[in-house]
Amino acid sequence: MKKLEVTCPTCKKKFNYYASDFRPFCSERCRLIDLGQWLNESYSVPVEKLSDEEVQTLEQLVHEKNTEEENDD
Ligand SMILES: [Zn+2]
Repeated sequence: MKKLEVTCPTCKKKFNYYASDFRPFCSERCRLIDLGQWLNESYSVPVEKLSDEEVQTLEQLVHEKNTEEENDD
């Protein structure tokens, strides 16, 4: 496997870029935390302390937001 050490934008941990399915983040959780930061205006949670349930809620919000963008007319 190719190797490229990068820093996760969320947790600042170094990881192998090619080993992550969630790049540029090291993990799904970090990706969701990042999404949570821009969703935070309408959904206020302390984004650094997401429970599994909140992660699911965020995923749903992201999905809804994406759907809204698709129906932009
Ligand atoms: Zn991370």
